[in-house]
Amino acid sequence: MNFNMNIPGLKDVEIEKIEEVGERTALHVSLPKQPHRCPSCGEMTTKVHDYRIQKIKHLKWFERLTILFYKRRRYACVCGKRFSETSPFVDKYQRYTKEWNQVVRIRAVKAKTFKEAGEVLGTSSSTVIRRFKEVAKDQITSGVRLPKVIAIDEYKGDTDAGTYQLIIANAETHEPIDILPNRRKDTIKDYLYQYGADVELVVMDMNPSFKAAVKKALGRPVIIADRFHYCRYIYWAIDEVRRKVQKEWHAYDRKKCKRMRHVLYKR
Ligand SMILES: [Zn+2]
Repeated sequence: MNFNMNIPGLKDVEIEKIEEVGERTALHVSLPKQPHRCPSCGEMTTKVHDYRIQKIKHLKWFERLTILFYKRRRYACVCGKRFSETSPFVDKYQRYTKEWNQVVRIRAVKAKTFKEAGEVLGTSSSTVIRRFKEVAKDQITSGVRLPKVIAIDEYKGDTDAGTYQLIIANAETHEPIDILPNRRKDTIKDYLYQYGADVELVVMDMNPSFKAAVKKALGRPVIIADRFHYCRYIYWAIDEVRRKVQKEWHAYDRKKCKRMRHVLYKR
């Protein structure tokens, strides 16, 4: 059996044999012989030196994971140089096809979970995560410049860098700008020092040590306590008063008023 088929990502590839190998469909493939230019002296050659089998993982084909046994030709030049043929579907020493590499980048971003992407692509979730990080790195622009008015708040993201992360947002448009891996003072200080030259106003909670870090990094920005955190302090204060007052009441009244607490929280 020897036929050509235009399988997506495997154009012009000759399939010599198809068989089942474990859970995968194995395609034994090769490329047609073609004149190649010697990378050493520039002469053209068609003289075959030998073949090497390159084992490469490819995408699913009819819902089956595939593996390619690529019989990769090596040419010999009159100058003595021996070199591998150029291949449109896989780079040298790679364990995955080019097409697969493109798909994993898309799936890593679009799939619901890394695990799911790994299952569809026949690889581990850690491989998908690694590829996702490559994509992310490419996307990140190095020259972030923070706007005049920013908001900083912590949130519980539970990543491997820690339970809490910091989100930096544009306080006027409410658009998130960046997420810092943790809420350590040094992290925010270094970040603002690097990107915060234009910042004049910072909306944030009222944690004093945090405030000190922001001030240190930005010189003397105007720091605004955001409404949520500011109100929280007021609620706490009111609640303290409520407790003090109710302590002096009779047990009956106290019990009755305990559930009235949220009346105080109304706007
Ligand atoms: Zn040569």
